[in-house]
Amino acid sequence: MHLLSEGSWMKLGVPARLLELVEKKPALLVSIVALVGTTAAAAAPLSQAEHRASLVTAVERAVDQVAPTAEAAPLKLVWDGADVDGDGRADFANPTGREPRLHDAYGDGEFGARRDGGSRRHEGVDYTARAGQDVAAPISGYVTKIGYAYAGDQTLKFVEITNPALNYAARVFYVNPRVEVGETVAIGQPIATARSLQRKYPGGMTDHVHLEILDRRGDRIDATRMITAEYRPGNLTVAAAD
Ligand SMILES: [Zn+2]
Repeated sequence: MHLLSEGSWMKLGVPARLLELVEKKPALLVSIVALVGTTAAAAAPLSQAEHRASLVTAVERAVDQVAPTAEAAPLKLVWDGADVDGDGRADFANPTGREPRLHDAYGDGEFGARRDGGSRRHEGVDYTARAGQDVAAPISGYVTKIGYAYAGDQTLKFVEITNPALNYAARVFYVNPRVEVGETVAIGQPIATARSLQRKYPGGMTDHVHLEILDRRGDRIDATRMITAEYRPGNLTVAAAD
C-alpha cells in the first residue's frame, strides 16, 4: 500500500522501519496510529519542530510496542505453487528457485514477450539460473520426452513431464537431464542441471531455464500464474546457499 510516496513519508520524518512494517502488515497501521495519537496528544502544546520530533518518537515507540521483533526476523523470498487439485499442497514449483529473467541484451524473459521483431511470442517464462545448479521438477508426473531445444545443437536439451491427474505438462529447457523417459518424478525433485547459455547467446544473455506449462488443451500458459513469490520471515530456515 502506498498512501504517499516513500519520499514524502520520509520528509514528514516517518522512520523507514515504520514504512517497511506497514508495507508488510498494513493492518498494524491502525494500532500504530492509535498509539501515536495518544502519545502525541499528551505532549501538546509544542512548537512545530518539537511537535514533529515528539511525533517521530511516538511513532518509534508505537512500532516497538506493536512489532518488537520486526527487525529480528529477516525476510526471505519464498516461491509458492498453485494448488490446482485442492489437496492443500502446491502442484507447481519454481525450477531454479530464482527470479524470472528480466530484460537483457536478448529481450525479456516474461511470457508473451516479443521475439524475432514481434513475429512470434515467447511461449514460456525464463527463470534465471547459475550454470551447473540443480533444476527441480516444476510438477510431479512422469518424463514423457527428452529432446533438443534447437535443431543442430546437441548441448541444450529439454525435459518434458506430464501429469495426467492434473492434466498439465511442463517442459524445462537448457538443461542436462538426469532422468530418463518413463521415469516418475516428484515436484521439487532434482531432474537436471542448468546449462550455460553464453556460447549460444554471447554478450549479455542471462543464464536461465525456459519453462513452458501446457494446460489440458495443450495451450501454453503463463507459469507466473502458477508460481508466485512472497516474502516470509526467514529466521527459522536457512536460505539456500548459492
Ligand atoms: Zn525463454
